[in-house]
Amino acid sequence: MKITRVGTIPSMVGPADWFTGSVRVDSLFPPDGGRHSNGGLVTFEPGARTRWHTHPAGQTILITQGLGWVQREGSPVEEVTPGDIVFFEVGERHWHGASPLMGMSHIAITEVLDGKAVDWLEPVTDEQYKK
Ligand code: MN
Repeated sequence: MKITRVGTIPSMVGPADWFTGSVRVDSLFPPDGGRHSNGGLVTFEPGARTRWHTHPAGQTILITQGLGWVQREGSPVEEVTPGDIVFFEVGERHWHGASPLMGMSHIAITEVLDGKAVDWLEPVTDEQYKK
């Protein structure tokens, strides 16, 4: 058993080659000690979102605050609210982020395969986001 105390891992600014807009990432746990996933709390300001991306071993996000938008390629944008849980399948092209007028926070649990958790692609354009 291992307890990681809150405040021991510094917050980080979401990098521009992963996100559009203002995003804070709080790492919760790395894939270590036999664990095959990483955990992070991601906080999106209104309008902020990830780039299009895929996960080589899938991802589960748990919406904890605010009003969010998620989309997998070829399907409509869907609204998500606290308590909702979204699972993205292996290799599924998608994005997640805040709604335009209200921010959103989620906890992401991302499976790691061969040291890799995500493949970042192109930004979600305003036209794609607003659709
Ligand atoms: Mn994802």
